[in-house]
Amino acid sequence: MDDKTFRQIWKKLMESDKITIIPHLNPDGDALGSGLGLYWTLKKLGKKVKIYNKTTPLPYYLDFLPGFDQITNQYPKDTQVVVSVDCGDFDRLGIEERPPFLINIDHHYTNPNFGDLNLVDRGGPATAYVVYQLLKRNRAELTPEGATGLYTGILTDTGNFQYETVTGDLFRAVADLVDAGANPGWIGQMLYQRDRLSRLRLLAKILDNIRLLLNGKVAFSFATQKMFRETGATKEDTETISSQLRNIGPVEIGLFLREEEDGSVKVSLRSKEKVDVGKISVKLGGGGHARAAGATLPNTSIEEALKIILPLIEKELKATGVLEESTKENSPKKEIESPHLQQITKPEPPDISEKKEESPLSVTSSPNSPTIEKV
Ligand code: AMP
Ligand code: MN
Ligand code: MN
Repeated sequence: MDDKTFRQIWKKLMESDKITIIPHLNPDGDALGSGLGLYWTLKKLGKKVKIYNKTTPLPYYLDFLPGFDQITNQYPKDTQVVVSVDCGDFDRLGIEERPPFLINIDHHYTNPNFGDLNLVDRGGPATAYVVYQLLKRNRAELTPEGATGLYTGILTDTGNFQYETVTGDLFRAVADLVDAGANPGWIGQMLYQRDRLSRLRLLAKILDNIRLLLNGKVAFSFATQKMFRETGATKEDTETISSQLRNIGPVEIGLFLREEEDGSVKVSLRSKEKVDVGKISVKLGGGGHARAAGATLPNTSIEEALKIILPLIEKELKATGVLEESTKENSPKKEIESPHLQQITKPEPPDISEKKEESPLSVTSSPNSPTIEKV
């Protein structure tokens, strides 16, 4: 990222009036945080700036971000310049046509520089950190609202400052964001102390189904549509699961599969220190980073998806020396054929007729009981 690009992007933004910022589809803390970080400064400079995302609903756990309620799902037709934030490729923007001018701000190492101007910190900690540098180098003012977004983006994309991407310079930027009005205590509370009972109930089911595969180097679990119906949880409630799976002591890779409403399977991968899961995701038609990556496999089942993914994981584990070449008794084939897995991943018919009347006093009843569900 050279000085010239920082200047060119700012010049283009200052010359333009109707600007649309687009964080990636199914946005996370970095996508919305970096988008809103830029949004507030441009707004203060008098620009007609909009922030667009096609995903509805947006993840509820990010609703504390200042400007969250201004995010529109109507693409502004008269846009002169689009700024894509945290999008590893053009498809992640959720727009069909290329805009008149496209600025690409990101940190995915797989980013093919799809913009007219590209500011890509390949392998860097967060897009929010790139936006921070863009504002600082051009002496633009940070607002408390924008600083809150940028802090959130950095916090969430570094696993709360745990990853190898964290540097002294990043901490100095974070200190500056705090001075500008980001409140770490409040943001931490908003992100981590507003949990929902339905999410914990789903988590209990997911954790109960964990299986260790490939010599214990892979921790795998999944969520089916039935599990969502039974707990009342929603898909964004699974955001932290693949990291939790990876966090098990001897495990190198956390693999989480989520059955989607449209019949696709969402793949989420995390690694600890050796395997580049971004590489695996790219082979699955997705993308991501070395330690966190994802993909969506259309028209498939969890079981079928596992059959495709495990050999790719096995190959990488062997290539990086995490797994020895001959671990026959732990081959993925054997695991897939396990009757237990067949049983737990078998698609269930919709449970329309499953609604049973339950006594409000029955404390051992299912979580669907109305008396205990509304917490
Ligand atoms: P997730 O496991 O969904 O939290 O995603 C981890 C990382 O992988 C994110 O930073 C995304 O940039 C990337 N990613 C997830 N899903 C996809 C996808 N379908 N296509 C491309 N990249 C993805
Ligand atoms: Mn992201
Ligand atoms: Mn990011």
